[in-house]
Amino acid sequence: MAEKDEGKERRKIKAAAKMKEIMTSYYIDAKTAGQTGKKVAWITSGGPVEPLIAMDIIPVYPENHGAMIGASKMGVDLCRKAEEMGYSSDLCSYARSDIGCAPVNGGPIGGLPKPDMLVCCNNICGTVLKWYEVQARYFNIPLFILDTPFTHVGFSAEAKKYVKRQILEYIEFLENATAKKFNYDRMREVGKLSLEGQRLWQAVLDTAVNRPSPLSAFDAFFHLALIVTLRGTRQTVDYYKILLEEMQERVAQQIGAVADEQYRLLWDNLPIWYRMKWLSEKFASAGACLVADTYTTAWCGSMKYIKEDDFIDTMAEGYSRIYLNIGVDQMAEQVIAMAEKYNVDGIVMHSNRSCKPYSFGQYDIQRIVGEKMGIPTLMIEADMVDERNFSESQVETRIEAFIEVLQGKK
Ligand code: SF4
Repeated sequence: MAEKDEGKERRKIKAAAKMKEIMTSYYIDAKTAGQTGKKVAWITSGGPVEPLIAMDIIPVYPENHGAMIGASKMGVDLCRKAEEMGYSSDLCSYARSDIGCAPVNGGPIGGLPKPDMLVCCNNICGTVLKWYEVQARYFNIPLFILDTPFTHVGFSAEAKKYVKRQILEYIEFLENATAKKFNYDRMREVGKLSLEGQRLWQAVLDTAVNRPSPLSAFDAFFHLALIVTLRGTRQTVDYYKILLEEMQERVAQQIGAVADEQYRLLWDNLPIWYRMKWLSEKFASAGACLVADTYTTAWCGSMKYIKEDDFIDTMAEGYSRIYLNIGVDQMAEQVIAMAEKYNVDGIVMHSNRSCKPYSFGQYDIQRIVGEKMGIPTLMIEADMVDERNFSESQVETRIEAFIEVLQGKK
């Protein structure tokens, strides 16, 4: 028993404590912005945050808050509240929990800090447009919408011109909202820090190519918060350096995320926030490690399109060609590339009732991956926040059957 505890203790990621500290102080700053004279902008998770950082505006992510609501198992009550307000239960549960939360200051941190402005980029989905319009009316504040065309096969010169023009309008919007001139020199520094943070985050994720993998997708879901919320800051760069060092140390000492790694798997779609512990224990007990995932990789997937010395000019392409804004064939290519890179034995797909753009193409991706790689896929039907769409017995049976398939292939 003592030996078991020792192993568990050894596998714990030490940097996690630092991460909690940073996130706590970030939320305190955001919540006290009214007293410190800072402005707060709510922004969608795929939105260009760097201009906000350059303007000293605190970015706040309702989706990150949605994840906290889900992890705290408060999603059902808040989703119900939104449904009582007239919103359909088919609507994304991040949107429902945020809309339900605002009038009651609910959720694990007593509601989000009141926004001074909203920034919505539809590169992730169309839901965010209506969701942010609802909140702009509710808080009676200005809303900026950045419209990115679908980039199913490529990025045309017209698309670039169209998005670039809006980036300049975005800067103007921020100047008006803060009554300050935009500082392009500061923006260059923030752009560099953003790319450095993304490179480090990718390097952290890449340590999972090792056997045993020093981290699992469940760890990545947790450590993702900084690259989403504070991308473009020195704090994020410094944190990922610490985390990378710890991962490299774990690789050197052969410390795996799961005790006895037998199977390596790839996760697709958002996490099931309220069942993270249960799922991680379920897979780990069978010696299965989810070594990589398409979700946390999305925050560094398009950095190849952005030039460090020309951030403003190239960010239009970088922010348009993100994972949820490309075609299913390209998504399948990325899944295959990841499956090969991390040398996985199978894929676990979360068919997420909330996130249609992530889930619609999954059966096609499953077929393409099966034809090209011949590896099995497990499909789990659930929702990232709304527990009413999760059946433990059904998911458990499917995981057990999937593990048997993997065993049969060894
Ligand atoms: S539908 Fe998907 S991409 Fe859109 S807000 Fe919800 S979870 Fe995010």
